[in-house]
Amino acid sequence: MRGTVLYAPGDVRVEDRPEAAIEKPTDAVIRLTAACVCGSDLWPYRGIEPIDGPRPMGHEYVGVVEAVGSEVTSVKPGQFVVGSFVASDNTCEICQAGYQSSCVQREFIGGAQADLMRVPLADGTLVATPGTPDADLVPSLLAASDVLGTGWFAAVAAEAGPGKTVAVVGDGAVGLLGVLAAKQLGADQIIAFSRHQDRQKLAREFGATDIVTERGDEGVAKIKELTNGLGAHSVIEAVGTQESMMQAIHSTRPGGHVGYVGVPAEVQLPGVELFFSAVHLHGGPAPVRRFLPDLISLIWNRTIDPGKVFDLELPLDQAAEGYKAMDERRAIKTLLRP
Ligand SMILES: [Zn+2]
Repeated sequence: MRGTVLYAPGDVRVEDRPEAAIEKPTDAVIRLTAACVCGSDLWPYRGIEPIDGPRPMGHEYVGVVEAVGSEVTSVKPGQFVVGSFVASDNTCEICQAGYQSSCVQREFIGGAQADLMRVPLADGTLVATPGTPDADLVPSLLAASDVLGTGWFAAVAAEAGPGKTVAVVGDGAVGLLGVLAAKQLGADQIIAFSRHQDRQKLAREFGATDIVTERGDEGVAKIKELTNGLGAHSVIEAVGTQESMMQAIHSTRPGGHVGYVGVPAEVQLPGVELFFSAVHLHGGPAPVRRFLPDLISLIWNRTIDPGKVFDLELPLDQAAEGYKAMDERRAIKTLLRP
């Protein structure tokens, strides 16, 4: 089978890999219908996150179950499934509390940019769709696997809802889908930070009421202007840099909530500023599995169309170009077809 492997910064190859197979009775093997390149894949691709050897890439996936281990009961061969980027049992106390991405048995998914992949803890990780989806629903279901689920978690963690002003730091796929989530959760005002016209347009389609093009302290000043000098009730941080995190904290009013889901690249929080900001911080790797059943229904009944974040689609063999396009910000998000 083919699979994408990162050898060194900027060096992504699609090559022949050992066939994915059932290794444990709780595993499933799925044949990928679609996969994609994540913003977080760009950290090792850019050399910001070191890699200690060739790394099979990809953790966002939809596909058809090919085989299941002897203990798997919730999915069966032939079913179309969506899974989270973290495998979880969905039964431990942490999972039951809704934090499946911190499951006591968690395993991070890798190797989804491939023809086939092994999914550990299949019963707790995969959710079957009501049937075989129409082709136009596949990108949206794929988005549910990570970027939509992550944007959704950020909006929930930021306590977006009726009566709230939500600001979104980051105009990548996660930030844009954080806008969509805030809209679905009933927020009154949604302010997206973006300086790119195509992304501003998508943010508006997803529900943004205002766009702020300034960043850092100037961006914060704009948020204050739009909120009677107080700051937003809810702020989504979907980048993971020092600047974006501080922009998020400073954009939040005292007592407000920051939902942070950008994977941090050397972020250091200054204690005194944090102390006097009086904001709630809640984030981490999104427990996508918590939201998957609801997100699948919203997509299935065509209430939401998160698949719009994919603005480049390539055959798996051209994965390298998919990474390059995202790295150079020519594409918001690349969908790969095995
Ligand atoms: Zn668990």
